[in-house]
Amino acid sequence: MTFRSFFPPVRTLMGPGPSDVNPRVLAAMSRPIVGHMDPVFIAMMDDMKGLLQYAFQTRNALTLPVSAPGSAGMETCFANLVEPGDKVIVCINGVFGGRMKENVERYGGIPVTVEDDWGQPVSLQKVEDALKDNPDARILAFVHAETSTGACSDVKALCELARRHDCLSIVDAVTSLGGIPLQVDDWGVDAIYSGSQKCLSCTPGLAPVSFSERAVARIRGRKTPVQSWFLDLNLVMGYWVGSDGKRAYHHTAPVNALYALHEALVILHEEGLEASWARHRRHHDALRAGIEAMGMSFLVDEAHRLPQLNAVMVPQGVDEVAVRKALLERYSLEIGAGLGPYAGRIWRIGLMGHAANERNVLLCLGGLETVLAEMGAVTPGEALPAARAVYSEPARAKAA
Ligand SMILES: *Cc1c(COP(=O)(O)O)cnc(C)c1O
Repeated sequence: MTFRSFFPPVRTLMGPGPSDVNPRVLAAMSRPIVGHMDPVFIAMMDDMKGLLQYAFQTRNALTLPVSAPGSAGMETCFANLVEPGDKVIVCINGVFGGRMKENVERYGGIPVTVEDDWGQPVSLQKVEDALKDNPDARILAFVHAETSTGACSDVKALCELARRHDCLSIVDAVTSLGGIPLQVDDWGVDAIYSGSQKCLSCTPGLAPVSFSERAVARIRGRKTPVQSWFLDLNLVMGYWVGSDGKRAYHHTAPVNALYALHEALVILHEEGLEASWARHRRHHDALRAGIEAMGMSFLVDEAHRLPQLNAVMVPQGVDEVAVRKALLERYSLEIGAGLGPYAGRIWRIGLMGHAANERNVLLCLGGLETVLAEMGAVTPGEALPAARAVYSEPARAKAA
């Protein structure tokens, strides 16, 4: 048997992540490897912290990328902040809130769930009621951008509620970071995690996290050791923060993967956060115009809809799997399927990071329209002019 090198096809990634990666990011990954304690690498890590602080809009000293995907960022927050017996209010309005609940249980906490229908944002009223009913709750946890549905929740208002009721907040920003407004310090977020492969448009495998001073004090004051050795921030800090100017070995940092994240964050910084948010919004507007011109609708109300994750209702009678298969085979274009109650009922079209551009929007609309027209589900000729009209509006073009 012979084994050959793996050469993947070039895809356009417009699903729920990973997203398209800027070629600069892939090029950065192939630069020479250095040791993870090399002074030049340590200097790059300090730079990385500044770049992540910019992306999160925070001055939190404990801001770093965990060496594993977004799920490990989630687990880092719960492993470090939840002690056995702690009551945690967990908001569930999609897949990822459900995973938060599992994390609380596995670390010995007592979850109190606040549930909203899939596609709805987290209800502020329900959270306030839960906080009032559970004065002993210590943490409020929720997802900013629910990737399973495309719904956006109000981080600022939820963190205000948490503070008023003496709770720390844990926020999932895996899909929000870089794509929509997020102000960690101004909004009073205590613990937040993200992922490298969504709106940061880096390769998968790293999870930026950031912790407020209140959260760090909670971690330092734990009565029990953090259950996970690998994710214990008290140990991780020895490498990422150091003491007396010295860094202690904890685990071998994924050196080249960190070059990639560094480059992705430099690209975000060059563009500017606000310009990036506006770009996501603009391409969403164009995509939406095309989708609606084909007579299709969105799962989430406009007021709570994420620009970077578009949950589009599959038209009656259409075999959604066949559509995704045709897009992949004929256009090398990936879009996402629905999950849970929306499996088979929605497509999830991502416009994340580098993938949020006019070429992709037109490719996706043209491909969808072609395939759906062949199935007799839509009348061709409507989608592209509608999107083009959005791109031709001078005010929008200037804002982006
Ligand atoms: C993708 C995602 C995660 C998990 O990230 P992985 O990198 O896949 O581990 C967690 N939360 C949300 C909201 C996500 O979209």
